[in-house]
Amino acid sequence: MQTLQALLTQISSTTTLEGLENLRLQVLGKKGLLTQEFSQLKSLEGQVKAQKAQELNQFKEAFTSTHALKKQELQNLALEAKLCAQKIDWSLAHTHLRASFGHPLSHTKDRIIEYFTQLGFKLHLGALIEDEFYNFDALNMPAYHPARDMQDTFYFQDRKLLRTHTSPTQIHALQHQEPPIKMISVGPTFRRDYDTTHTPMFHQVEGLVVDRARRVHFGHLKQVLEDFLHHFFGDVRVRWRSSFFPFTEPSAEADISCVFCEGRGCRVCAHTGWLEVLGSGCVNQRVFENVGVCGVSGYAFGLGIERLAMLTCEINDLRSFFETDLRLLEAF
Ligand SMILES: [Zn+2]
Repeated sequence: MQTLQALLTQISSTTTLEGLENLRLQVLGKKGLLTQEFSQLKSLEGQVKAQKAQELNQFKEAFTSTHALKKQELQNLALEAKLCAQKIDWSLAHTHLRASFGHPLSHTKDRIIEYFTQLGFKLHLGALIEDEFYNFDALNMPAYHPARDMQDTFYFQDRKLLRTHTSPTQIHALQHQEPPIKMISVGPTFRRDYDTTHTPMFHQVEGLVVDRARRVHFGHLKQVLEDFLHHFFGDVRVRWRSSFFPFTEPSAEADISCVFCEGRGCRVCAHTGWLEVLGSGCVNQRVFENVGVCGVSGYAFGLGIERLAMLTCEINDLRSFFETDLRLLEAF
């Protein structure tokens, strides 16, 4: 046991990894001292054997941990010395450089954020976990609304859920900010869906403009969004269709002339010549009532970032955005 203790003490004065490994072999190797001591246990019996075993195990623990600490220390020193000695030739050409402009979704998102923030819209990210009030009730989607079905929404306990749209951020803004409000909310949203045009996580951009009295109307919304669509898609025609959303009244969806066939009709536009791109409308007065805001008017709009990226990057399968295939990035 004395020899073993001496070997343990030697660890602290060891200066090389090689020397440290030698110590380990002398103690724990196949023919190491401690290994031999353990094998001799079988010749002992009863209390003596138990006491000896305990002693050996305690020593093994002390030796292993001291050894590991010293090893880490010596490895750090070796790495530091290696880095100091290394000379990097920055001028060397890389043979596998790959150029890309980033992921199509990030690129699309950044373009949209840049456009609206330059118009004075303030960016809100919002929380991913919301409760039913912010995600549904306040947005005029009562308990019987089909979107609240367990099949469509990821629920936690206590009425908490993964937000199914970015709209809850609008409710928080209405509760905490005095009008005028001019904001966009951008980020991931979640629904229980998976096929070529749906993924469980997808990204939305949502805009909200609210002001006192009747200063904000549908004409403002139409102008802002048509300008945006021309900025984003270039020389396209825009068509408005009346629609329905619980949180806006009146509601409208905007289509653009198909960017693939210029309106002549193709497979992507289902031979209609038009592509749906966004939903919008004047904020339903019930939404304002639900958060206790009176005497205001506003409009809101929402876009799917994947949808816009699919159209600008000519991608057919939504799922390919989330498969980590570098060839997708190289294509742009
Ligand atoms: Zn088309």
